[in-house]
Amino acid sequence: MSAPGIFRPPASVNEPVLGYAPGSPERAALQARLQQMSAERIQIPLVIGGERFETGTTFEAVMPHRHAHVLADVAKGDASHVERAIAAARTAHPVWSRTPWHERAAIFLRAAELLAGPWRSTLNAATMLNQSKTAHQAEIDAACETIDFLRFNADHLVRIYSEQPISSPGVWNRLEYRPLEGFVFAVSPFNFTAIGANLTTSAALLGNTIVWKPASTAALSAWYTMRLLEEAGLPPGVINLVYGSGAAIGPAALASPELAGVHFTGSTPVFQSMWKTVGDNIAGYRNYPRLVGETGGKNFILAHPSADAETVATAIVRGSFEYQGQKCSASSRLYIPSNLWPDVRERLQSDIATISVGDVSDFSNFMGAVIDSSSFRTQADAIAEAKAAGAEIVTGGGVDDSEGWFVEPTVIKTDDPEFRLLRDELFGPIVTAYVYDERRWDETLRLVDETASFALTGAVFSNDRYAIEQAHRELSYAAGNFYVNDKPTGAVVGQQPFGGARASGTNDKAGSMWNLIRWVSPRTVKETLVPASDYRYPFLDADT
Ligand code: NAD
Repeated sequence: MSAPGIFRPPASVNEPVLGYAPGSPERAALQARLQQMSAERIQIPLVIGGERFETGTTFEAVMPHRHAHVLADVAKGDASHVERAIAAARTAHPVWSRTPWHERAAIFLRAAELLAGPWRSTLNAATMLNQSKTAHQAEIDAACETIDFLRFNADHLVRIYSEQPISSPGVWNRLEYRPLEGFVFAVSPFNFTAIGANLTTSAALLGNTIVWKPASTAALSAWYTMRLLEEAGLPPGVINLVYGSGAAIGPAALASPELAGVHFTGSTPVFQSMWKTVGDNIAGYRNYPRLVGETGGKNFILAHPSADAETVATAIVRGSFEYQGQKCSASSRLYIPSNLWPDVRERLQSDIATISVGDVSDFSNFMGAVIDSSSFRTQADAIAEAKAAGAEIVTGGGVDDSEGWFVEPTVIKTDDPEFRLLRDELFGPIVTAYVYDERRWDETLRLVDETASFALTGAVFSNDRYAIEQAHRELSYAAGNFYVNDKPTGAVVGQQPFGGARASGTNDKAGSMWNLIRWVSPRTVKETLVPASDYRYPFLDADT
């Protein structure tokens, strides 16, 4: 029997971001873990139904900033492993889906506390080494954001379950928030450890069971996330971890009649291809699968002629180059008025000259490497394209992949408002500026709205309240996360629910109850307390 009581989870608070200053205990713990992890080469298996699976083929997990250094050999799964994982998820479903919600929540809340304590340095170190994040970038992602997702989702669950219909006299109406019937396919990107943790645990918290395919370039942090959840008490089969190429794993999972939902974060073309496959298979599913995808961006910083050049330049540097521009929210196109450009340009050049790029284990570096050789090629090609088109390279432009996939923080200025680099996502440390005539603010608003197909994040800088209000209105659909006088990155769970529309995704707002609601299928129950015993209504009676 489940414990009687209407329980309330502990109030959620955002996990404080540790500073890693010299001499701090967190710095010492992290450095020790970095050293230890760098010195080993581990074998990572698939985890299906709680069991470890070697598959006979492996791929290497490397350090992007020292790509000859192999951190792990990772088992590579194929369609047969996906089938096993689906079977394991189905086996776990009856018990997990009926487990009282507070028991499920306790597992994820315990994972949050373990991560805040003994697991912090492990998940941060794995994220630094395999995804090339600095200590600060790893801390705000792998530690803090993951913890926040795990804590806040329990609150969201209670808000959803508490949403109940009214009842009439003699009747009790109820909504039961059933988990989806089938399994959820969670597919995560390389750039945030917290996203892999959230795509899986959010749906699992609501009672679903999961097949998880993480990005191969974030294999190490996915492995430690899985082990953390196991230590927190996650039962076998609730989350099944299958590594492998998207082309092999994706179609196999999407072909199953038991597919109940896709929880995806990654690029726009991959999500569109998955949606198409689901469309092609639609008649074969037992249910219409829920499709939740947060995808690409071409995020803008728009400065009004009244803005301060220093604050605009600071936002550009932080918003475009932290984590090498590989945040989905990173600014990658700039609209700067002609009166501000000379000062913004100068400030960008002097600030960016002080940025060091290199091995993230050296804490003096502000940036690491881009994730892999393919991204490196994309960035190098874009810089070459800008040069060939006669655009100005304002800062950076250098690339070097001899040791790591390094790309300098690069600002490009174009005179062509339709230039490709203002439209396409590059997902690297390259930002393209268009300098507009300061008298053409109205036209520039239209340009910002219409140039790219994406609508993820955007920021407007102004000291003129009317201009802010106008941008707010005219750019209503240009961004799902809109910032006023702030950089467009750094959304915090519980504070700025995250996601965008247009080509940027289904805008289901990760880390909010709007996302969690996609992982339940409500059943309405009407119970009549004293049922009728005569079919006749009073109007049928004869007049007297
Ligand atoms: P990606 O699309 O290359 O890969 C994402 C995941 O999809 C990986 O696990 C990959 O292996 C898998 N995949 C690839 N082909 C597949 C297929 N046919 N079927 C199933 N799965 C397949 O993206 P990435 O390079 O890992 O991440 C960067 C992208 O993610 C950028 O476009 C970025 O904007 C986006 N992103 C968006 C958000 C957001 O909240 N909107 C957040 C983070 C990242």
